[in-house]
Amino acid sequence: MSDARGQRGGDGRGGDGRAGDGRDRGEREPGESRSWVDEPGVRFADLTTLGVGGHIRHLARWATEHELRDGFAALRDAGMPWVVVGGGSNLVASDEPWDGVVVQLTSAAIEELARDAEGAVVRVDAGVAWDDLVRWAVERGLQGVECMSGIPGSVGAAPIQNIGAYGQEVSDVVVEVRAFDPQAGRFVDIAAADCAFGYRTSRFRARDRGLVIVAVTLRLAVSERARLAYAELAARFEGRAAPPTLAEAREAVLAIRRGKGMVVDPADPDSRSAGSFFTNPLVDAGQLAAIEQRAEARGLGAVPRWPQPDGRVKVPAAWLIERAGVRRGDRRGSAAVSSKHVLAIVACGDARAADVRALAAEIRARVLETWGVTLQQEPLDLDAAAWRPERREPAEGEA
Ligand SMILES: Cc1cc2nc3c(=O)[nH]c(=O)nc-3n(C[C@H](O)[C@H](O)[C@H](O)COP(=O)(O)OP(=O)(O)OC[C@H]3O[C@@H](n4cnc5c(N)ncnc54)[C@H](O)[C@@H]3O)c2cc1C
Repeated sequence: MSDARGQRGGDGRGGDGRAGDGRDRGEREPGESRSWVDEPGVRFADLTTLGVGGHIRHLARWATEHELRDGFAALRDAGMPWVVVGGGSNLVASDEPWDGVVVQLTSAAIEELARDAEGAVVRVDAGVAWDDLVRWAVERGLQGVECMSGIPGSVGAAPIQNIGAYGQEVSDVVVEVRAFDPQAGRFVDIAAADCAFGYRTSRFRARDRGLVIVAVTLRLAVSERARLAYAELAARFEGRAAPPTLAEAREAVLAIRRGKGMVVDPADPDSRSAGSFFTNPLVDAGQLAAIEQRAEARGLGAVPRWPQPDGRVKVPAAWLIERAGVRRGDRRGSAAVSSKHVLAIVACGDARAADVRALAAEIRARVLETWGVTLQQEPLDLDAAAWRPERREPAEGEA
């Protein structure tokens, strides 16, 4: 079992990924340091799946809530900039060296808090690798996350952009998020209804980027069978009398994802990415009509779309990108469009963030020119050199 960084660039010194017994929340050996250590040889490139980014100076690995509280107090007293990095799978870190502290959460317990005939409530530490949680749930007949198999990264980061794939989103199963507010020096428990979850977003990605997520509580259904809501996945089981088992759904998702370079695998150069680089644009009726007009003028036929509950439609970014003249495998310097999927930008060799950003800017410009649509970037930029601790105001009702 791996920790959240076990998929690429992990060095095995973090959490042990222990799951299932909930006994150990990462107690340290007596005398072990509680704050940060100098790591001048480490680069953001070593800590991210894209594999770009300059040298960092310090690394902190904290497991317990005490360590977090004391560690952040020490950072504050020292005036040290910091940033939390999980699996580094949704980050584009800049090339410049950084004199701050990269904080990694190594707590790695999964604990079943309650179970009845219909469901189980499960508390998962931030340092658990997301896919380890999925495997754990599938093995125990708990449904609700199996279609999100193979998403890299940590459980702690999952609520931030409300990860989702193949018809499931983490917000479907979140009960509560426990976070630490480094500025106020206290922990807050935030109910799912207050997380402002949306398509690839939440309050943690917007006004509360300064909160550190330490654990997530989920409610999963008790069922051996998957519920498929995504056509490409359902098509794999067409003609079957019963829905697939959770394990079958997991394997199917992993197979589809591998075909797109969307499972991090050192043997697959197309998986050296930050996943989809752009979100699918959400457009209203007027914007859709404008896109349709342009498509008709180019003889491109019907514009694919997924209707949303709020009346808008989601248009596949990949469709817009391909029809703006971007090709799989297009390369600019050390960055390229994946050879399997135009939505992913991959880094090649000793890649530079500047090349990744330049290619992303070119793709955005082409889509804007062709379709009049501004693509939104999905991975977060980490401009470490310009980083300052983010301030946040306590939300109403927070203790
Ligand atoms: C090949 C590939 C496929 C992908 N497929 C999908 C997909 O299908 N669906 C999807 O939604 N995403 C996908 N992603 C994106 C990514 O896996 C998710 O966004 C994931 O949740 C990121 O987790 P992480 O631990 O790697 O976060 P990181 O990249 O380490 O961090 C991302 C951001 O969250 C912050 N952060 C991290 N941990 C915490 C914490 N505990 N508390 C507070 N802030 C924190 C960081 O500071 C940073 O701002 C994919 C990425 C790759 C590389």
